[in-house]
Amino acid sequence: MFQRKTIHMITEDIAIIPEGSMLDSNLYVIGTAGNLMLIDSGNGMATNRILSLIKNQYGTDEIQAILQTHYHIDHILGLYQFKKKFPDIKVYAHEIEAKVIEAGDNRYINPMANMFTGPLQSVIEPIAKVFGINPEPTKVDIKLKEDDIIKWGSLSLKVIHTPGHTPGGICLHDKQKKILFTGDTVFTHGSFGRVDFIGGSAELLQKSLKKLADLEDVEILLPGHMNPVLKNGKKHLEIASSMW
Ligand SMILES: [Zn+2]
Repeated sequence: MFQRKTIHMITEDIAIIPEGSMLDSNLYVIGTAGNLMLIDSGNGMATNRILSLIKNQYGTDEIQAILQTHYHIDHILGLYQFKKKFPDIKVYAHEIEAKVIEAGDNRYINPMANMFTGPLQSVIEPIAKVFGINPEPTKVDIKLKEDDIIKWGSLSLKVIHTPGHTPGGICLHDKQKKILFTGDTVFTHGSFGRVDFIGGSAELLQKSLKKLADLEDVEILLPGHMNPVLKNGKKHLEIASSMW
């Protein structure tokens, strides 16, 4: 639906910068100029391009905050780049993910580097290093937990802890506007996050998917990968939950 590395307004104060081609994630920009938050920060390979897109759209590329739905490499490498340019950016993440982010723990952030042993390891490791950006211990300023509310511009985002893909993965729900950001917990048409990385749990993901499917007010579904859904998002959550 959307072209890669372009910016599109989804609502009056949510924009998407769709994922690039390789191990990348969707970025969402929320708020207005002077009060911009990114939801996830991508793989860091197109930071300058992303900043110029934001500048074109908002008249400034200054970002005030970055919220990480979880700590994986394809969602977080951009954080280190953006923080270099704007050191005062406030970082938000669930308190469990914060431990990994603050330690810069590569075992969790880049699980592919450790998934294989034997001959495959020599192939996978260089692929994992292709980005040339290493996780750096980074302070998480706001440590989130279940039911916290983040008020940002006209959005009021409730934190929903959805472990399974990672232990402290979160979704963000604006009940009134019927918007749900889902990170890598659930995507569209019944697809959901993988559970085979370190820290993953099929049992917990199943529970998280059920929790999301039970939400009443979800029209717009904004996942970490694939296209967003602009209508009847709840249906996609129900399909994913019914797959188990
Ligand atoms: Zn992930």
